[in-house]
Amino acid sequence: MSRPIQVLIDPAAIAHNYRRMKALAPKAKVYAVTKADGYGHGLARVVAALPEADGFALLEVDWAIGLREAGVTQPILLLEGVFSADEMRLASHHALTVAVHEERALAWLETLVLPKPLDVYVKLNTGMNRLGFVADTAAAVVARLQACANVASITLMTHFATADDPDRGIAMQLARFDAAVAGLDLPMTLANSAATFDFPDVHRDWVRPGVALYGATPFAHRSAASLGLIAAMSLQSEIIGVQMLQAGDAVGYAAAFTAPEPMRIGIVACGYADGYPRHAPTGTPILVGGVRTRLLGRVSMDMLAVDLSDVPQAQIGTPVELWGKGLPIDEVAAAAGTIGYELMCAIAPRVQVKTL
Ligand SMILES: *Cc1c(COP(=O)(O)O)cnc(C)c1O
Repeated sequence: MSRPIQVLIDPAAIAHNYRRMKALAPKAKVYAVTKADGYGHGLARVVAALPEADGFALLEVDWAIGLREAGVTQPILLLEGVFSADEMRLASHHALTVAVHEERALAWLETLVLPKPLDVYVKLNTGMNRLGFVADTAAAVVARLQACANVASITLMTHFATADDPDRGIAMQLARFDAAVAGLDLPMTLANSAATFDFPDVHRDWVRPGVALYGATPFAHRSAASLGLIAAMSLQSEIIGVQMLQAGDAVGYAAAFTAPEPMRIGIVACGYADGYPRHAPTGTPILVGGVRTRLLGRVSMDMLAVDLSDVPQAQIGTPVELWGKGLPIDEVAAAAGTIGYELMCAIAPRVQVKTL
């Protein structure tokens, strides 16, 4: 073995989490959202863990084609649609489902000669103000698509900005959506992970959980465990150095931590070039030999320091868990001022990823 850092992915946890979301929305079908290389877990690995998934949703047309070529037969939804007329042709050829969120894509569907009619999702902007047609124009957009020979089916779609925020919720966006689509007898998809947990009324025909499948929480104040989720990713390394500090000795760049008393510290082979957040401050939790301790000082490119005061048995070679089943990624993210989503997507290419 070379440098001891590695990521372990647990396919059984992904399958468990998928079933958890399915059980929450028993009448809906479930898109496993696998953008960003399966939130950093590896697209192929995630897809292999979910043979039962009703569909997959991601962004890149070439990755979607890769899934088709690997034999995936479920619907594959391109959440941002296609970015060129050529991609619309490819999507048609490979039976990909395409989100249509702006005039340009609508015009391609109206004018191109395509190999096969496509399933399309009409994305409506109900208040997120990112992608989508103005919600009130839904009926007009649908009428144009219904007149297209290139369109096999139409599903209505929107995305919530604050489904994870109990104070704001989804009421305003939902009211806009329901008003805009009243009278259109079409399937719908609205819910991300947070909305799948908290708003059964928006499960409708398809739900679209992402982060929950990987065992992290979409909420700021509810743990993944309390939601019945199991962490699928574990970032592991080892102690590769030990130092004895005297009172007043400092640790690492900027001498950002100073020992108040004599203490023993460990150096872990993990830094920001591995994807560990550089902004994690002193006190960020870390497991050393299964014991919860804390980060000390600045995270370096390739290393970080941990307090071994309560882990006297720790030495060079002692295993370290940066996050995983014993230490929720969400806790590390919160300490670093970010969310679990960002940490799982940020694992660097130099880190070996293994399937359990
Ligand atoms: C990323 C994404 C999701 C999944 O969101 P989570 O919060 O990870 O569940 C669902 N729908 C769309 C359109 C997305 O971009």
